[in-house]
Amino acid sequence: MKNETTRAIIYRKNIEHNISEIKKLLKPETKMCVAVKADGYGTSALETARLCEELGVDMLAIARVNEGIELRQEGIKLPLLLLSLCCPEEFEDLFKYEITPFIFGRDHITLLSEACDDFVKKGNVFADGFFNVHLAIDTGMGRIGCRKEEAAEQAKLIFSSKHLKLSGMGTHFALSDCVEQKGIDYTNQQFENFLEAVNAVKNAGINPGICHAGASAIACSRPDIHFDMVRPGIIVYGYYADQVDKKYLASKGIDLELKPVMQFETKVSAIRRFKPGQTVSYGRTWTSKKETDIAVLPVGYADGLLRRFSPGLKVAINGKEYPVVGRICMDQCMVDIGKDNKEIKCWDKAVIFGPVGQDGALQDAETLAALGNTISYEVMTSISKRVPRIVVD
Ligand SMILES: *Cc1c(COP(=O)(O)O)cnc(C)c1O
Repeated sequence: MKNETTRAIIYRKNIEHNISEIKKLLKPETKMCVAVKADGYGTSALETARLCEELGVDMLAIARVNEGIELRQEGIKLPLLLLSLCCPEEFEDLFKYEITPFIFGRDHITLLSEACDDFVKKGNVFADGFFNVHLAIDTGMGRIGCRKEEAAEQAKLIFSSKHLKLSGMGTHFALSDCVEQKGIDYTNQQFENFLEAVNAVKNAGINPGICHAGASAIACSRPDIHFDMVRPGIIVYGYYADQVDKKYLASKGIDLELKPVMQFETKVSAIRRFKPGQTVSYGRTWTSKKETDIAVLPVGYADGLLRRFSPGLKVAINGKEYPVVGRICMDQCMVDIGKDNKEIKCWDKAVIFGPVGQDGALQDAETLAALGNTISYEVMTSISKRVPRIVVD
């Protein structure tokens, strides 16, 4: 598999660098929960998880129960926080693999509590005697969580269960990566709502546990609302959270130097001469205007090179950019390298994106994202399963 032509290189040192950069922005007592969902944003959840254990990260965030099971089976011991909801069929795996769910809702809590009682009745025991859950509060994201007015009542329900323990409370911001006033105002409103929910739980005599609200954007730009823990994802993998970019942070006196973790690359698999008037790929959307050479690359949309990247996509071969011409196919695409290009031969490396200035990349995933009208998150998580991840130092 390591010899595969089309591959994603994962630079372990860059993950390490990014985590230590993020740590510098946190108070010593602020905990860090690194999001490794979606296979570490397409990089490698396991590699990141192992590094997190070495570097003293406090928790890992996942989005599916099976992501947690895989990490546990590979020996990851860190607490795992499940950010999205799961179904009752999956409850037993939560208990078995000690995955901490983000929950809310009377019915959901009751079902989980009953399932937990059954699990214990079967003779199972939890390491610390109870099963940890975090209560999700919807303060304005409009996704999961109870309203602030319901927080105390739902915390009481957890508190009164036999085996569940409220070990945390969290919320999620909808506009934290927007630096315009409307974004800041909305974030502040959500913060106030969360504070009210936390205080309501405390006033009911219940310890809310670890309180957390912010993802990457908050982790780097709003130390005033870190609470007990932040949950960074994208910045761990080397990209800024939208408008909260390097320049914006610098304007606030915050120095954050991130290094992209993933490089997506392939090799030239053929070079073919085209006469004027000959066309390339499905739909014949591109016609050769003059005699030229076309390099064929064994990478397509089934690898995650989104079809909508062409026209516009350029790839880097030996330090220069060349345009992809015609439609991107499922498994291949074609590049115009010009007639008799002495700088390119068959099997030369072609880099689609990666850390610029390292190993031949001339653009990163964010530049590519802009071309496809999306975000770096989607570009990275689109790199499909058949693309081997090669971890290097
Ligand atoms: C994905 C996710 C995160 C991490 O988000 P980034 O923007 O990548 O830092 C944090 N919290 C929740 C609830 C999430 O769903």
